Amino acid sequence: MERNYLLLTPGPLSTSASVKEAMLQDWCTWDKDYNEGVVEVIRWKLLEAAGLDGREYTTVLLQGSGTYGVEATLGAAVRPEDKLLIVANGAYGKRMGTIAEYYHLNYALVNLKETELVTPEVVERALEEHPGVTHFAVVHSETTTGLLNPIEGIAEVLRGRGVTWIVDAMSSFGGIPIDIKGLGIDFLISSANKCVQGVPGFTFVIARREKLAACKGVARSLSLDIYAQWEEMERGHGKWRFTSPTHVVRAFAQALKELEEEGGIAARHARYCRNHEVLVEGMEGAGFRTLLTPEKQSPIITSFLYPEAGFSFGDFYEALKRRGFVIYPGKVSDADTFRIGTIGDVYPEDFRRLVEAVKEIRGV
Ligand SMILES: *Cc1c(COP(=O)(O)O)cnc(C)c1O
Repeated sequence: MERNYLLLTPGPLSTSASVKEAMLQDWCTWDKDYNEGVVEVIRWKLLEAAGLDGREYTTVLLQGSGTYGVEATLGAAVRPEDKLLIVANGAYGKRMGTIAEYYHLNYALVNLKETELVTPEVVERALEEHPGVTHFAVVHSETTTGLLNPIEGIAEVLRGRGVTWIVDAMSSFGGIPIDIKGLGIDFLISSANKCVQGVPGFTFVIARREKLAACKGVARSLSLDIYAQWEEMERGHGKWRFTSPTHVVRAFAQALKELEEEGGIAARHARYCRNHEVLVEGMEGAGFRTLLTPEKQSPIITSFLYPEAGFSFGDFYEALKRRGFVIYPGKVSDADTFRIGTIGDVYPEDFRRLVEAVKEIRGV
């Protein structure tokens, strides 16, 4: 089937025809062909892609979008007597604060500017200013701007402090190599419709076994209890507690296979970097400037400043859509921007075509 348009957005994103085809069959959630043959395979393949040992790490899949996974993790990992520190530099970091508020967690939210990195120094200072922190949460790739927080440096600050580390790697896992074990990450959250290139419908958490086991009885929500969900998956060999999004799960299994065939996360990262390079070079040639300087920028999504006062994003969006490209509005509070994603089943040649379309629309 021909594509309606290319989605240059950070999820849902453009998926391959084979990923979509994987949804053309109905699967029984009780049958072992589904639980053992699809769900369990996904669970170990996620660990394999992340380079983790199944005796030390484990995975749990949960119905819902990425936010459900972040909420489920915070709600099950942080006990009433614990203290959570969140350092945010965008909408997704702030959303963790909103979750903490809903759950009446004992927490502190340090809010940085959206163009400022969560540096090791910032984390160190925040830990000094908020004594007694037991849990630390941060976003890896802040999709609000396209900024990439330096989790390697942050890991050095956290090392040896006994703090449980929760990373929202929603828009980076699968597209950027992350040494989960080496960095000491305890809970990493992502979802089906981002860099693994599946379709939307579930979220997953990669967790250190002993940390997830310690979540027993903590969750304040039945459907978002990742411990109970994990226990059921372990005991039932891939069985979900409630109706599992079978078609989406099948599509994800295919997407993981395609990630493997591409050469794994490192190879996918290299492709996204090329996409990003072609995009930025071309857009600069068409008179656009990026919001962020290159050292802060991820290859996932890029924010571009409006080229002049009075620029109509709506008209630009429609003109690009007519030419087969769908882009994203901006999300930054203090600058006029729009965003273009470089993740999904999209390639450098797609961005060359996009740049041609942009030049035609802009008359340059
Ligand atoms: C996509 C995303 C989420 C989750 O958003 P949903 O709309 O719930 O899928 C969370 N954090 C980041 C950084 C994201 O990019």
